[in-house]
Amino acid sequence: MPPTDTVLAVRCHGPGDVRAERVPTRSPGPGEVTIAPLAVGVCGTDSHIVGGSFPAAFPVVLGHEVCGRVVEVGPEVDALAPGDLVTVEPHDYCTACVYCRLGQEHLCDHKRGYGVRLDGGMAGRMVLPARIAYRLPPETPPWIGALTEPLACCVHGMDQLDPRSGLPVLVYGAGPAGAMMVALARSRGLAPIVVMDPRADRRDLALRMGAHVALDPGDPGSADAARELTGGLGFPSVVDAVGSARVLESALGMASRGGRILVFGVARPQDEARIRPNEIFARELTIVGAVINPYTHHRAVGLLPTLGLDRLRPAFFGVDEVTRALDAQTVGEADKVFIAPYGEEAARGGGCPARVAGW
Ligand SMILES: [Zn+2]
Ligand SMILES: [Zn+2]
Repeated sequence: MPPTDTVLAVRCHGPGDVRAERVPTRSPGPGEVTIAPLAVGVCGTDSHIVGGSFPAAFPVVLGHEVCGRVVEVGPEVDALAPGDLVTVEPHDYCTACVYCRLGQEHLCDHKRGYGVRLDGGMAGRMVLPARIAYRLPPETPPWIGALTEPLACCVHGMDQLDPRSGLPVLVYGAGPAGAMMVALARSRGLAPIVVMDPRADRRDLALRMGAHVALDPGDPGSADAARELTGGLGFPSVVDAVGSARVLESALGMASRGGRILVFGVARPQDEARIRPNEIFARELTIVGAVINPYTHHRAVGLLPTLGLDRLRPAFFGVDEVTRALDAQTVGEADKVFIAPYGEEAARGGGCPARVAGW
């Protein structure tokens, strides 16, 4: 790929104003690399930025779930070389606030996300610090590589939930993140894995990803059916992968004594749930949150080939089709939507089978 001075990018100029336009690119400076993004996941956060409900620094190139190929390395970069396939851990931390100094970088006062406050990967080129680029096995299909970022968030969620193998888990919501949670739960030996989602296609996805039972919460018998699967005790682990007050209220009711409830979905800031403190006390419940991916990107790279994430059905759109891609993500046209700056074949891995031998 020859060097270019400008590249086509998905740039958001403000709420409701997202454009495919040419933006300048530059050579990598000391400690930086330039990558050609091959597959970039479209996520709810992107829709929220474009919709104006997630704060961003405009104008900004979108895209924080990035897999690409290194095309140029700057001075003082030893660990990467042109041709390497990499995934990006898309955050910049101040390193100086109390949280950074306590090893809780993800809670940093001055955290900046690539694709949110710094230019992201939905572009022909992305320049980034080499230390946030993680090398992937070369046979990894780039769209699977782009799932490393949401998977790293799921790994942190599981760390926070801290479930025990051989015990049941209830997952509300089987969007892409909920589906990856199911795959992780399966790999950790949780059983039975019960999923609640009102959409039939997402219940199918949950079953494909390893859920034992998938129920429609709109079905009046669903809560009883789920509880019955635990011998009437309720679930020691419950995941809200939706992000809503109603789901949290239901989750509290479905937890067993001593149960842990993970708030993993992104609720609207103004949502309020009704919680009875006596229930938290008497049933010794724990509610935990999980935000982004502290020190879990490396582990997600390790897990990536083991989870069968090619069971997700992808859809690919060009940089100039961003509006269609956002719509497809919102209506759930596919399990997961990607921007493919170099086309679908490059995003799929040049026609290589998605499931690589030995995975
Ligand atoms: Zn995301
Ligand atoms: Zn900080």
